[in-house]
Amino acid sequence: MNDLKQARNNVLQQIQLACVHANRDARDVQLLAVSKTHSSAMLQEMYEAGQRSFAENYLQEAVEKMQQLAALEIEWHFIGHVQRNKTRPLAEQFAWVHGVDRLIIAERLSAQRTAQQPPLNICLQVNIDAQQSKDGCQPDEIAELVRQISQLPHLKLRGLMVIPAPGNDQAFLDARKLFDAVRVQHLHPEDWDTLSMGMSGDMNEAIAAGSTMVRVGTALFGTR
Ligand SMILES: *Cc1c(COP(=O)(O)O)cnc(C)c1O
Repeated sequence: MNDLKQARNNVLQQIQLACVHANRDARDVQLLAVSKTHSSAMLQEMYEAGQRSFAENYLQEAVEKMQQLAALEIEWHFIGHVQRNKTRPLAEQFAWVHGVDRLIIAERLSAQRTAQQPPLNICLQVNIDAQQSKDGCQPDEIAELVRQISQLPHLKLRGLMVIPAPGNDQAFLDARKLFDAVRVQHLHPEDWDTLSMGMSGDMNEAIAAGSTMVRVGTALFGTR
């Protein structure tokens, strides 16, 4: 077995164990492979190990990899900061965008998603632990954003994305509470099914709090 396949198996096993500890079904936690800075060749190797969902932070880098890997059936996620003037390539080329934190961004993504495509999956990024330099809306803005964004036609509003400070496990519990509380605002509550939280260093704690999608880079690909 090659190193990347071994690393992926180890991460899947860690997710499995965390689910056992949390009394959860491991099928309810998806592994998202965060591939920023890594070469297309490495993504291809990870794909051959069975991975289908990949996440990128930088648009230009992502678009280049998409071209190089066009023959593969990859589900592309964007997890970087969304700039207002860069929404079109996100709307047209990704399956998921995790960093939406303002209505105007969601409106642009919906308008720019083509009608032939399935709806673009969206997570709202929330600054759950009041970090100074962080992207993301404030927790008290989420209810209204869910109400408004869930009405946009070419989006599927799936849930929340958080990046708490390292070691702040309480933030995962707060995110879970917020996730549950705002469901009533959603026009299609059955779409509200995703808590995107947990990285290489804190996926156990995130899964214990209810994460449904862990975004893992280092533990899969090594240090950047
Ligand atoms: C880079 C990144 C990750 C992955 O972090 P690791 O510690 O390498 O697992 C997850 N989420 C976001 C938003 C990132 O930018």
